[in-house]
Amino acid sequence: MVKQTIQIFARVKPTVRKQQQGIYSIDEDEKLTPNLEIILPRDLADGFVNNKRESYKFKFQKIFDQGASQETIFENIAKPVAESVLAGYNGTIFAYGQTGSGKTFTITGGAERYSDRGIIPRTLSYIFEQLQKDSSTIHTTHISYLEIYNECGYDLLDPRHEASSLEDLPKVTILEDPDQNIHLKNLSLHQAATEEEALNLLFLGDTNRMIAETPMNQASTRSHCIFTIHLSSKEPGSATVRHAKLHLVDLAGSERVAKTGVGGQLLTEAKYINLSLHYLEQVIIALSEKHRAHIPYRNSMMTSVLRDSLGGNCMTTMIATLSLEKRNIDESISTCRFAQRVALIKNEAVLNEEIDPRLMIIRLQKEIQELKDELAIFTGEQRTEALSDAELLQLEKLITSFLDDQDPESRLEVGTDMRKIHHCFHHLKKLLNDKKIHGKSTVSCEIKDQDCQEPLKEEEYKKLRDILQQRDNEINILVNMLKKEKKKAQDALHLSSMDRSECRHSQSLPFPPGNPEGLRTLPSSAPKQIQDVSTFGYRSSLLHRKTGMREEMSLGRQEAFEIFKRDHADSVTIEDNKQILKQRFSEAKALGESINETRSKIGRLKEEITQRHMQQVALGVSENIAMPSMPDLLEEKLRSQLEEEKRRYKTMFTHLKALKVEIEHLQLLMDKAKMKLQKEFEAWWTEEATSLQVNSPAVNSLSHVKPFPQTPEFQQETSQPLFNKSNVNARKILPSPSPIPHSQEHNSTSASLESSVPERPASSVPLTGDSQTDSDILAFIKARQSILQKKCVTTTGA
Ligand code: ADP
Ligand code: MG
Repeated sequence: MVKQTIQIFARVKPTVRKQQQGIYSIDEDEKLTPNLEIILPRDLADGFVNNKRESYKFKFQKIFDQGASQETIFENIAKPVAESVLAGYNGTIFAYGQTGSGKTFTITGGAERYSDRGIIPRTLSYIFEQLQKDSSTIHTTHISYLEIYNECGYDLLDPRHEASSLEDLPKVTILEDPDQNIHLKNLSLHQAATEEEALNLLFLGDTNRMIAETPMNQASTRSHCIFTIHLSSKEPGSATVRHAKLHLVDLAGSERVAKTGVGGQLLTEAKYINLSLHYLEQVIIALSEKHRAHIPYRNSMMTSVLRDSLGGNCMTTMIATLSLEKRNIDESISTCRFAQRVALIKNEAVLNEEIDPRLMIIRLQKEIQELKDELAIFTGEQRTEALSDAELLQLEKLITSFLDDQDPESRLEVGTDMRKIHHCFHHLKKLLNDKKIHGKSTVSCEIKDQDCQEPLKEEEYKKLRDILQQRDNEINILVNMLKKEKKKAQDALHLSSMDRSECRHSQSLPFPPGNPEGLRTLPSSAPKQIQDVSTFGYRSSLLHRKTGMREEMSLGRQEAFEIFKRDHADSVTIEDNKQILKQRFSEAKALGESINETRSKIGRLKEEITQRHMQQVALGVSENIAMPSMPDLLEEKLRSQLEEEKRRYKTMFTHLKALKVEIEHLQLLMDKAKMKLQKEFEAWWTEEATSLQVNSPAVNSLSHVKPFPQTPEFQQETSQPLFNKSNVNARKILPSPSPIPHSQEHNSTSASLESSVPERPASSVPLTGDSQTDSDILAFIKARQSILQKKCVTTTGA
């Protein structure tokens, strides 16, 4: 058992503005624990925060200042936890801090650069690397990804990929067994055999998380996400299996309700989030106080799920993410205060080992066979399942002569074969019963007589009967075990065939594999719940879904999408990543070529060495001289060249492997960015379409077209008075009653602007007569007009 308090770390997010310096300082001179001092600016100190205290000091295991890289964070915080998980202990890393302080950046990583990948991808990489190195044990890895929003759990690894809101995802509920173990019903577990498969699952979960989030419902700041790596390992031939779970948790923003101060839907969300974080705080307070008998884990789903991580069987680490800017001072202080309490909690992690009944039976069967063989050596006869008729007859004859023998010292010799001993007793019993029926009194008299004469025999009989009973029991147990096994195998066969047909519904199993309790109670449920997501399968299906969206687009919409894409802030990132990806591809290609070259070089060198060797031998034979004892210089040279090439080969191979991971990661980042773009476009488009419908044939020409969101140009524009947020209405343009006057008007108003937008003129977009497509075209035209108009204003304004 390992007793340890929860480890706390602080990470300070880089500030945008330099003027924020002087708000905090990190004191690492002390040999003990480093200190983070938050210094209140005078205006705040005098005001609402506190009565005149000017600085606060907080101790952390380690404090990572603004410059700390993702690599440093992984090495210092996550790697030790990953190591203990590999050793068989449960681990948890959770990030806590206000929205925007860098929780997601720390746990998952940034969406732009490969070097920005966070704890999850790095830990996966590390774990798979270690597992690959350790060939002495058999491992299996499963992944689950849970989102908790408004006290409801959702399975982010829903393989249907149809979620367009959180509610579309399978709902996960909590079950508690009589031993108070928590089980998550409906949370799917996916086997991941390689790092790549695991990364794909992370990507799938993040994509579902993103898709499920609409601008109205920024779930990510109000929900908790728990990415779990389930590891099982066992030594070959052993019946003991080790299970360990690693939870990587991105908590909801910790900002206080008072500050949100909103109503309606948002209030519900704020209330829930703050409720669940409030319950987390209560659990932590209860745990940090000595002699508290009741810990209120059950008050919220998140504390129930993380029960083991908080004061239980787990090695837990907290990362306090801080955005140390003046306006965030009070939130930062409250994050640090929370961390100080968390640091008081003691956990007791134990190795999670259990005996797998299936493996135990196999072992016992083997043992029985060995004992049988051993027995055969002693008795000189091979044991079969049952005695043959001839043997039985022989035994019965022996019994008869034994009973007939008047010598009180006579013995019934049947050897050590338990089957024969059993049969003798059965037969004797039968004889006794038969006699009872025919002449009860005589028999009893006789027995009584015998009893008096030979009290020792009764004792012996009793002993033998006990042995017999014991053996009988043993045999019964083994027979039952075998029967159960057989039945289980049949069940599994049956289930797997059922699974294939109704895969989806089988998800509602209460116990995930890898959970000791689950395995103990429902050993056959494991194969049912695991769903193999082949990397290729779902990526292509995501892709299909994306292209499907594009195929459905009408011409106008497609064109609008092109502009939207071009002007979107993320397009720069996508382009950048595309370039990096291209570069990496050509690097990988070149490396692949070099590797192939080296490989053939190695082959050639080997051949040369063999030839040289043979030459030397042949020379020795033909000249009839013994092999020279001096080493052959040429051969040695060839050998050292070979070693050199082998080293080169290995280095390049490792490099290529790393490149492959990077390429895969970059592709995932790009896919994600593209999907985000598409999603934002869809949202914008739908909004436009509804506003078009709502604003029926109306007064003026130009419509209610909002600017494309996040456009760098527009962001610049919004800083100008005409286009700041409150003035949006000033630009709102009403739709025209029909397409024709509209296009006329377009032609007349924007001839001079046409050159600034290289796209096809609106009038060349054919009207199809299909109302859906036409309204698409209309929306597009209006969108473009809105862009043009803004451009016009900007140019004239500037
Ligand atoms: P949270 O999840 O706590 O709400 P995010 O992780 O989304 O916060 O971070 C908010 C923004 O700050 C993101 O754009 C993120 O990329 C950026 N960010 C956070 N931490 C860092 C960091 N250490 N270095 C660079 N950028 C960061
Ligand atoms: Mg976040």
